[in-house]
Amino acid sequence: MTLWLATTNDGKLKEFKNLLMSKPVELKTLKDLGTYSSPKEDGDSFEANSLIKARACRAVVKDGWVVAEDSGLVCDGLNGMPGIYSARYAGDNARDSENTSKVLKMLKLRSTNRDARFVCCLTAISPEGEVHVFNGTIEGQISPTIKGSAGFGYDPIFIPQGETQTMAELGAGYKAKNSHRSKAIKQFIAQVLEA
Ligand code: IMP
Repeated sequence: MTLWLATTNDGKLKEFKNLLMSKPVELKTLKDLGTYSSPKEDGDSFEANSLIKARACRAVVKDGWVVAEDSGLVCDGLNGMPGIYSARYAGDNARDSENTSKVLKMLKLRSTNRDARFVCCLTAISPEGEVHVFNGTIEGQISPTIKGSAGFGYDPIFIPQGETQTMAELGAGYKAKNSHRSKAIKQFIAQVLEA
């Protein structure tokens, strides 16, 4: 089966490939399409944006399954921000380091509540157009400082519940077992690929 991964985020792609490499799928990405213009992510939830991305890819890809996901960091002390704005919290085209620094700065100013979670909503669309939605979360806390170099995005400031290190210190193996994205991908594997 051909599986199109509708993302241009290299960090996400690495994690998808890691979990799907032993499965009987031929993985293709938007880079295999040559030209592709990403849709505007103007939904008001992770699910809505995930569906927008999956549908846009489905519209141009005729074979196989299409999988897209929308994800982000939800901070209780910031009323749920950055949430669906995670990729551009510090501005359009902001670097990961600028986004993470902004979370630390805003928490310092606004709240002592450091509870947070990563959320992932994965949408898979079959060749016939059936839509399947899978969700994954991981609970944790925002660390006082930036630590670790693995992963991407907010990994250097997120300490999963029960751990003392950030996700960027815990590394790829930890994320493959426990992350919001791995939880959603594993449901897709069990309920679609291996059903
Ligand atoms: P999206 O591409 O619009 O779904 O934006 C996702 C953004 O959320 C990323 O650019 C990261 O800033 C953040 N994010 C999502 N998943 C992770 C993760 O596994 N680790 C760290 N940051 C993440």
